[in-house]
Amino acid sequence: MSVTRRIAIILTVIFLIPVLFFSVYEISSLNKDEKMIEDIYTKQLEAILFSVNQHADNALENWVAKAQRGFESSTIEQEVPSSIQALLTNAAIKIVFFVDSLADSNIRGYAQDSLLMDTLSPLIKSALLKNSMQINRLIGYKKSGFQKIEVVQSDWPGANNARMLIFIADGMDASFRIAGLIVDPSAVIEDIVGPRLQVIAKDQFILSVFSKSLISPIYSTQQGDTTRLNSDAFTKDLWIFPDYSLGIRTKGASLQQIVKERTNTNLIFLVGLDIVLIIALILVFRNVKKEVQLAQNKSDFVSNVSHEIRTPLALISMFAETLEMGRAKTEEKKQEYYSIITKETQRLSGIVNKILNFSQTEAGKKKLHIESIELTKEIQAILKTYDFHLKNKGFEYYFEPSDSLFVKADKEAITEMIINLIDNAIKYSSNQKKIEIVVGHDVNFGWVAVKDHGLGIGKEDQKHVFDKFYRVSSGNLAKSQGTGLGLSIVKQLIEHQNGKITVSSELGKGSTFTLYFPLT
Ligand code: ADP
Repeated sequence: MSVTRRIAIILTVIFLIPVLFFSVYEISSLNKDEKMIEDIYTKQLEAILFSVNQHADNALENWVAKAQRGFESSTIEQEVPSSIQALLTNAAIKIVFFVDSLADSNIRGYAQDSLLMDTLSPLIKSALLKNSMQINRLIGYKKSGFQKIEVVQSDWPGANNARMLIFIADGMDASFRIAGLIVDPSAVIEDIVGPRLQVIAKDQFILSVFSKSLISPIYSTQQGDTTRLNSDAFTKDLWIFPDYSLGIRTKGASLQQIVKERTNTNLIFLVGLDIVLIIALILVFRNVKKEVQLAQNKSDFVSNVSHEIRTPLALISMFAETLEMGRAKTEEKKQEYYSIITKETQRLSGIVNKILNFSQTEAGKKKLHIESIELTKEIQAILKTYDFHLKNKGFEYYFEPSDSLFVKADKEAITEMIINLIDNAIKYSSNQKKIEIVVGHDVNFGWVAVKDHGLGIGKEDQKHVFDKFYRVSSGNLAKSQGTGLGLSIVKQLIEHQNGKITVSSELGKGSTFTLYFPLT
């Protein structure tokens, strides 16, 4: 298994898998939390509305108790007992009445205004008869010691929207009385329910009472509240008047919204964190991969260079020895051996220079002298000095100049770069010994292209040929000698001159390296 693959697996196992597991777990528990909080919230709201209902019930029971006391003390017909008088000061209570039985036609009632009593008397009577079943049931409850207060169905043409509440009161001699209150529900809600809602509401909630037949609330702790009895407010029936509902919702955003928002923010953070982590892992992996590659290239470099140096050294030492021992018989042979020694020495110093050059450029020690240079002229001069070398190697070359084209560059660096590219073109060509050099420009750059018809470079290798120490390690190319430094020196040099280098190549067809210089 390759080193990089192993690193990828280690990173995945140590970091990625646990993080992904954790994220999935967190996301699922976030949803669970949200559900739980919602449940708790709903229960809380339910408890609040329950307490409101109970409060209203207690108030009614209190009224009933007062009425009962009044009935017991009412002996003289026309006189209103004090406890009933107290009840009637309450704007919500229109009439307090009782009858001895359903058959009793003598309704005894006390009203805020006696005229109302007169008009409503027959209506009360018919309402009692109409609801006799309900009343008998209430009597049944009372007999088992349980006093219940209920609204009975009734229409009150004279008193708009009034409700009749009935209960069974104790009569004389262990008998029962059917008693009731005619009340104005809006006033009851205003007087009894309202203050309670205000206490609960404070700054947190909006509580309202809706009549089920109306759309907007008839009472609300929020002034000018026009919310509908809709689904986002939590509602319960009002016990004392079942055709009314109590509604509650949080001021501002509802808890569901807050929880949802929180969950979403958490989710975004979590996903963001995962993305950052994955990017970080990719970066780490890429860096490690690069380092591993570099280490590999470096070790290849050492063996390449040793090899490169050993060959000329062996030749030099062999021919020097031959000469020394006087084994070269003819003057011609001697000359041949001298020239081999010179050539190999040049090759050696070439290699050493390249390495020195590389370390200087890499350390940024190389001082460039940027000036305005006529590109065509410069290339022509280089080709002139290199003409012999090229022809000697059996290469034909074509030069396509451009009209006067001035670029910002360093004279020596241009020479070094072009020679590097031409040397590579020579080194990596086999049968087609043809090199084309073209000068041209676009909007921002003047460029020189060095094109050969040699071995070409595969797509994958093209990405790396400018890396330090990189040499293509497959195919025909591997056979030729080199240090893997040339193109990396060229790249560093051109970048120091604010230019760039590109390669386009096809295996078996040849390569074109193009240097771009900023225009003057
Ligand atoms: P070196 O030539 O010393 O190996 P370079 O940095 O000059 O190092 O080149 C790096 C690699 O790029 C070479 O090993 C070679 O495989 C490839 N290469 C460079 N120039 C050419 C070219 N003109 N044609 C094909 N391959 C090339």
